[in-house]
This record gives sequence, C-alpha cells and structure tokens, in this order.
Amino acid sequence: MNKFDLERFEEEAQEQWTHAFESNPSELEKFFLTVAYPYPSGAMHVGHGRTYIVPDVIARFWRMRGRQVLYPMAFHVTGAPVIGISKRIAKKDPKTIHLYRDLYKVPQNVLDEFTDPLTIVRHFAGEYQRVMTACGISIDWRRRFTTVDPTYSKFIEWQWKHLYEAGHVIKGAHPVRYCTVDDNPVGDHDLLEGDKAEVIKFTLVMFRYGDAFIPTATLRPETIHGVTNLWANPGIIYVRVLVDGIPWIISREAAEKLALQDHTVEIENEIAGRDLIDAVVSHPLCGKVPVLPADFVDPDVGSGLVMSVPAHAPFDYIALRDLQHAGRYPGIKPIPLIKVEGYGEIPAQDIVEKNSITSQMDSRMDALTQEIYSAEFSKGKLFERYGGKPVRIARDEVAALMIEKFDSEIMYEFDTRPVVCRCGNKVKIKILHDQWFLKYSDPAWKQQVSDHLGDMALVPPEVRQEFDRTVDWLKDWACTRRVGLGTRFPWDTTQLIEPLSDSTIYMAYYTIAHRIKEIEPGLLTPEVFDYIFLGKESPDLPVKKKLEAMRKEFLFWYPYNFRFSAKDLISNHLTFQLFHHVTIFPRDKLPLGMVVFGMGLLNGAKMSSSKGNVFLLEDAVSEFGADTVRMFLMGSAEPWQDFDWRNDLVISTKKQIERFYNTVLEIKDAHGEPHDIDRWLISRLQSHIERTTAALTNFQTRQALQEAYFGIETDLKWYRRRLPEGCDGSRELHTLCSTWVRLLAPFIPFTGEHLWKQLAGEGLVSFAPWPVAEKNLVNTRIELAEELLSRTVEDIESIKKLIQITPKSITISLAPEWKHEIFLIIAKADDRNMVVKEVMKNDAMRRRGKEATDAVKQCTTLIHRLPPHVVGPLTQERVNEKEVFEAAKGFLEKEFGVPVHITEAESSEHAKAATALPFKPAIIIA
Ligand SMILES: [Zn+2]
Repeated sequence: MNKFDLERFEEEAQEQWTHAFESNPSELEKFFLTVAYPYPSGAMHVGHGRTYIVPDVIARFWRMRGRQVLYPMAFHVTGAPVIGISKRIAKKDPKTIHLYRDLYKVPQNVLDEFTDPLTIVRHFAGEYQRVMTACGISIDWRRRFTTVDPTYSKFIEWQWKHLYEAGHVIKGAHPVRYCTVDDNPVGDHDLLEGDKAEVIKFTLVMFRYGDAFIPTATLRPETIHGVTNLWANPGIIYVRVLVDGIPWIISREAAEKLALQDHTVEIENEIAGRDLIDAVVSHPLCGKVPVLPADFVDPDVGSGLVMSVPAHAPFDYIALRDLQHAGRYPGIKPIPLIKVEGYGEIPAQDIVEKNSITSQMDSRMDALTQEIYSAEFSKGKLFERYGGKPVRIARDEVAALMIEKFDSEIMYEFDTRPVVCRCGNKVKIKILHDQWFLKYSDPAWKQQVSDHLGDMALVPPEVRQEFDRTVDWLKDWACTRRVGLGTRFPWDTTQLIEPLSDSTIYMAYYTIAHRIKEIEPGLLTPEVFDYIFLGKESPDLPVKKKLEAMRKEFLFWYPYNFRFSAKDLISNHLTFQLFHHVTIFPRDKLPLGMVVFGMGLLNGAKMSSSKGNVFLLEDAVSEFGADTVRMFLMGSAEPWQDFDWRNDLVISTKKQIERFYNTVLEIKDAHGEPHDIDRWLISRLQSHIERTTAALTNFQTRQALQEAYFGIETDLKWYRRRLPEGCDGSRELHTLCSTWVRLLAPFIPFTGEHLWKQLAGEGLVSFAPWPVAEKNLVNTRIELAEELLSRTVEDIESIKKLIQITPKSITISLAPEWKHEIFLIIAKADDRNMVVKEVMKNDAMRRRGKEATDAVKQCTTLIHRLPPHVVGPLTQERVNEKEVFEAAKGFLEKEFGVPVHITEAESSEHAKAATALPFKPAIIIA
C-alpha cells in the first residue's frame, strides 16, 4: 500500500486541492504574485513549466508561512498570430498541420475546427489549465479570464481613457516595422527573426551626377570632408528613379524602401553597376570624387551606394588599399578630418596596421570600426579648417546643413538584419501617418518610471541595469493594429489595441475577475472602474454592493508583490507595464517587485516550438511524475539562470524523491531514547531550516533544495552511521520527518501531501505551518565535535585508499596546545598577513622558530579550507579533541575493524605526529 507511486499521490492530492487555492481577502498579510499570462496558441513545453512552477514554489512557501497568497492565471488571446495560424490550417499548410497534429497532438476533429482562430485559443487555454493543474500549480482558477472577454475590453477602454487624458496617446507620422504582405505594422510577437533590430535614422548625402543625384546613406555626415570616392557594386543593376520628381540613382531595394518612407518613387530605367564605375560625382562639401568598384556593397543596405572615408573607416581604408595593391587608383590618398587622442593622423590606417589586418573579411573588422566610431564620437574634434567642433556637435550640425542646403533626406534602416515577419516576408520600415502611438519617448513619463524603478525589488539585481537602459531608449510605440483579436481602439474603432498594449495593468483586474463576471458588460462605465480602482465616488453607480466588494478585493491585494517573467520581456512588457502603472494608479498601488527568469534549453539547445526542439510538459509529467518535473526544474538552476532539460538527469531526480519517501517511512516511527547524536541531528536541522527559508525568501530554489533535500539527507546518513549498536533511531526522528516533509512540500507537493498524512499531520501540508528554526535547539559544541569526527573519518578513508595495505591499527595523534593558540590567533585575525608578527610577539613561540612559522602556514591553509560555519564557532568554542575521540573510539574501531589509539603528538615518536593540527589530527596507520 505504501509503495512509492507518484501517480497515486497525484490523484489523492488533486481530490483535496479542488478549491483549496481559491483565495479571499482575510486578516492575514497578503502575498500576491503574478506571471505573464500565456498566449495559448500551442502546447506547453517544459520551459513553460518552469515559468509557472517557480512562482508556485514561492506561492506555496509563503502560504505555509502564514500569508494570504493569491496566484491567479488568465489567457492572452489578443493579436494576429492566431489568425495567421488559423489561415495556414485552413490552407492545409503542411508545416503548421505537422506542428499541431504531431507535435502538439491535437485530435483531428478538433484540428478541423482550428480554421476559427478563437477555437484555437479556447482549446489551448483549456489545455493549459489542465496541464498546470496536473503540475500542482496552486492557482485560484475562479479568476481566470481571457483578453477578449467583453468585461475585460471594458476594463481596457477605461485604462486607455486614462492614458489618453494623461497625454500619452498621440497620433502622428512615425517609422514603424511593417510587413507589406500583411499590410500591417509588425510587433515583437509577429517576428520570426530580428526582434532586437532597431530602427536607425540615416542621412542621405546627395552627390551630383549629371542631372541626377546619387545618394549615400550615412550615420556620420560630418565625414563628408574626408570623402575620397564612392563605392558602387559593378555586379548589380541600379535604377534611375524619380523621387518626388527628382532623378536619383539607387538600388532597386532602396527604391522600394523609399516608397514606404513618404516619397513618391517612379522607376525610369535600369543602369548597370559597372557603367557607374569611374564616373565622377560631386558634392559642395568635398568637391569632385570618382566612383570605384566594390563587391561588398549590399544593394539592400541604404541606397546601395556608399561614400568612402578611408581615413576614418577601416572598411574603406582596406578596400582602397586592396585596389591600390592591384595597381589601381594610385593617386587617391586618405583625407583625415578628425583629431582623436590615442590615434595617429589617419586613425583607420593606424588601427588596421596595429592589428595586422590584411583583409576586410577579418572577424575583428566590425569591432574595430565600432571602436573608432565611439572614440571619435566621444573625444574626436574636427580639424580647424572644418570648423574645429567636437564630433558629437558637428555631426548634427552638418546633417542639418545638408538637409537645409544640399538636398539631403532622411532614410530609416534597421541596425541589424535580417528582420523577418512570421509570414516569411522581409520586414521593412514604413512611415505611418494617422498611426496611434504610446509616447514612451516622453522624458517626463520616463522619469516617473525611473523614480519608481528605484523603489522596486528586482531579482536578480543585475537586471536593474537592463531596465534602466530600456526606459532610456524606449521610443514611441505603435499601439494599434488593423488585424487581430482584441479591444477596439476607442478613438478609431477600425483599429485594435495591440497585444503589448492591452496587457500592462491586468494584474489589477485579477483582483476582481471572479466578481466582475456577474456584472452585465454594458454597466461597466469608466466611472465604475474609477470607483473600484481609484476610489472615486460618482452618482448613480450601478450594483453598488458588488462594486464595494470589488473595491475591497483590490485594496486588499494590490499592489502585487512580485511579477515573474522571462528575461526577453524586459525590453517590452515588463517595462511597459511600469509606464502604465505610474500613470493610472496612486503611488501606494505601484508594483513592488519583479523576478526575471533565464531561458530553457533542451539537451543543450534553445527550446523552440517553431524549430520542433521541445519536450511537452504534459509528456514530461506523465512519464516522470509532476513532482519529478518540479524538483528537476527547481533544482537544476536558479530561476534567473538558463536550465537544460535532460531526460537522464530527470530520472535520477525521480530516484531522489523515492529515496526521500522511503527514508521518511522507515524512520518516522522510531521511538528509541535520544543520544548525543540526536541532539546533533536536531541542532543541524535548525540551520537547514534557516538556510532553506533564507534561500526561498530570495527566490533561490536551487539553493533551497540543496539545503532541504541534500543537506538533511547527508546528515541522516551520518546519523545512522553513528547510532549505537542495536539502536535504530530515537523518537526525535519523527520531528525531523515532519520538518523535512514541510521543507520539501513546496517543491514536491504531491509526495508531500501523501507523507503528511502518513505522519498524521493536521490538514493539508500545503497549509501546514512552515518550520521555524529554534535557537535553543542549536548545540555548537556537539556540531563541532561531529564535524571533527566526520572529517577525521574521511581523512582515514583517503589515507587507507592511498597506502593500500591492510591496517593493523590506527593512531590518532592530537595537536599540542601551542598550535591551538596559533590556530585561534589566525582564525580571529582580520588581516591574516599580520599573523606571523602577532604570533612572534610571544617569547615561547619565538623560541620555537621555524617550527612555529611552519605551523602558522599550515594553520592558515587549513582555516582557508574549512567552511566559515566551522571556523566561526571554533573562535568561540574550544573542542576538547581528546574527549571527542575517546568517546568515539568504539565507533571508529567498528568502522575500521582495527584497534584505534589516541595519543598526544608531543609524546609520540612517530615523525608524522608532528603534522598534527587543531581540528586535523595526524593519522598514523600501521
Ligand atoms: Zn508578414
């Protein structure tokens, strides 16, 4: 009956948990934690598992610590991806069908209905709930909602009314990522590739060529003074186009891009690249320069032609040098124009030669280019004849001048490529007019967020920098879309609020989600939400009793304590939600903390549903058991570290749980009288409690498991070894079991509930009181004695292995008093370098000479090796080593099967005895 059977434990616990985690305002202190709600368009893999299990372990921990815990969940179904999926399924796209039928295991009759996008999200929302429940995630499911519920839309309308009134919603022309196939702006969620790419503003420098312009795109317009030539690719076909009526020569790709950026573009005719070579062009700021051939010029970057500044651009320098090595264009010399400290007259030449770069293909080229670029921007100055201004000032001035007087235009490009839409099309940059934006560029709004960020708890602390950076560089955000599911944009109902803009304050909605369902959506005016969330009274509020109850819930739960999310959401969601919170809620309702996760790997490679490299969470649970999956995910890495799922390691986790289970059942009913070793066990237990508690308070699930599982297991092994013969444990073991089961319950709650019953614990272990360390049960003297003994046993074992003879006897030789004095001086010393001086103050020590200085060295090494939790107490409490070993003589003789002698090193003849140190006696095996 009591066989280890995770499946049975799961069934038993599920029955008792049905409504257990529904949480209401109470007298207790609250702990409200949230996770970014999932977009249910596919099955959950083990990476998702960790996202929801980490907060669950934390929720269970605080619940046991007596907090009123709320862990809610909802489903984000806003946006276009699911519409694309349903279209692909309708078209019977083989890749999509394969993903959904074979990988996600959707039954054919359900799959047939996936031509309706809402059916997809409803199906997977149900699946998510089922699998999360199977994993033992302690969610209050009464509060579940989706972002297309009519009541939620009313809430979003209210939120946007406030954003609008605060002046954060604006309409304007802006460059946005755009897919010309979908005819829609592209959000982060809509990208297959290139989500880190930023939109960069280039200046087009207009070179005159006959009646036409040849533009080149640059970020460094001030270097116009150093242009020696242009580069054109002889292998491609350029086009002559009328841009706003004026003839330009550019690549075909550039023509397509410019057409999206507020220009009329008409193609006149084609021009072969090779026909441009050796043409002469001119610009008022650099005079006449030739066009030179270069295969490296990419028609898909800028205009497809490049201006060359060999004195300051390593790529240009090498390209020119290569041509000249081949005997061409010998007359062209780099023209320097910027003076920058630390570089010679021609910085590009300088850096290329210093690094012995021979080819443009050298992998260091990008870094060197960046280095010069940064050095010149931060410390460079234009030569006097070009105005003598610092580069950082001259750059903008030259750009402005070119636009005003020399026909320059702006062109937007991505800083990295490729940028690819989910539909497979290359994303372009389009200037949208009449586009609605959230004005994240507003410095005053940024400041409010920065101020609040300073008050927030961020875990791990390193992410603070990333948040600061994000707040700093966030630009205006296109917040509406034409296509998708979601809430209509109140000021233009042909548009929808896009997914990253309707998911920023819904944590507040959780507090009322189960109650608002009872109210007719038509009644949910902005005044209703103003009352619930801001306490603003207004006449004629409907269903006032219900609103009061919701207000009470909100006041009890909000602000949330912690939000958990993967680190790739720092640059959007996690920061956006702060912008929205500071605008809408009063100070005392602003978020308190965030915990940011690392990524999941599967057998060393990044988990990705689209690449098929996933292990489904449900498969993991049915194969290994929910507790195994939980313990593996919590134990293999701290939440913010990346973790790697490997089936072989998961199997050994299952064995660990089984070992824990069997041990508890074996020892729980022991009823012997307690010995010293019991006092040791219980004393050690106090520090395991303390350290597990501290680790979980800091979200260190791995550290907590090390203490709560391995720490206690190792102690128990030693305990059972040290029990007097014929004794199989004392009644203290029952206390230990009760504590142990509770410490592990947040990690393996199914096994926990089953064992809790076996221990006759009261109620559910999920609500049992978290163990508290008791100072009066800590016995440093006994802990140190056992530490000394176990270390000595280890030493004897390793020596035995080394010498490989069958011993006839073992002698333990104890260090003399004067070495104890030295040991104590070193252990207490703040500055261990001063120790020799300190020791030598003493006449008797000085007389010992080399013997004493050697002992100082040896003791120092030893102290370095001992853990702080041993060295600390040793400065307070002297262990009577003789007493310890005399008392353990019987144990040692039993362990090693030979007579054991305990001697003082000073009276020993054996040469080895001289090596005896405090806490590390000499061991002589004969
Ligand atoms: Zn697309």
